Amino acid sequence: MLYDDQNIFARIIRNEIPAIKVYEDDQVLAFMDIMPQAEGHTLVIPKTPAITLLDLPPDAAAYTIQIVQKIAKAMEKALEVKGIVLMQLSGASAGQTVPHVHFHLVPTSLHNLGKHAAQMGDQEKIKALAEKIKAAL
Ligand code: 5GP
Repeated sequence: MLYDDQNIFARIIRNEIPAIKVYEDDQVLAFMDIMPQAEGHTLVIPKTPAITLLDLPPDAAAYTIQIVQKIAKAMEKALEVKGIVLMQLSGASAGQTVPHVHFHLVPTSLHNLGKHAAQMGDQEKIKALAEKIKAAL
């Protein structure tokens, strides 16, 4: 499958559509999920155009995981949560809906996860959670 550079995350990377960002550098972007499965649900994406984890060059994967860890630590501190679900869906057959590789950080238990990409969150509440995570980075 060819990478579609019009996918929603590619457009977020290019600032063509807005996102509530918590972290950005030249290689990685972290932003809040618009349909959170728990309060604080954050997505971490490499800027490298890759559809799944299997397409991502190992160096980019390694760096992205460093940022995943950094965000997870900030999340624990800022949101006062103990456990975080790290989820990565590779391929539509696995349930992946956006064809740009991403890591979900969901500060909850696997047993309390909300439905996947199902319901828009309260954007003001999400912005406030993002501010807390940013402040703890
Ligand atoms: P996937 O199913 O590909 O693993 O996850 C895609 C995630 O992106 C879902 O959790 C969904 O809620 C989220 N999402 C879909 N469209 C947008 C969007 O336009 N902005 C943001 N911030 N998240 C989105």
